[in-house]
Amino acid sequence: MSPKFASNGSSRIGFDRYARSLREWADRVREPLSDHHDLAFLRNRDLDSALLLEIDNALSRLANGTYGVCLECGERIQARRLDSAPWTKFCRRCQDLLSAMAAHTRGEST
Ligand SMILES: [Zn+2]
Repeated sequence: MSPKFASNGSSRIGFDRYARSLREWADRVREPLSDHHDLAFLRNRDLDSALLLEIDNALSRLANGTYGVCLECGERIQARRLDSAPWTKFCRRCQDLLSAMAAHTRGEST
């Protein structure tokens, strides 16, 4: 609880929204597979646990005040990205870069 954050009331309220959203996602992912027909893209159990880990990490960042900041470049992450995936830890630019690098690495190692 730093005074800097306490004075910035509006962003705290915005983050409460993301905290709620993250907990809802965690609940949905923890449901039995048959129950999340609306999450067809998450049917894979490995993906489920990977997502839960990301959600846990995001909740930790909310708790320690680093939520919404790109872990790579330190820039604010676009609200639109956080709205669609509240566990996002990179800004658009860094995510694109990392994805491209990962694809490149995969291509070379196979
Ligand atoms: Zn970034």
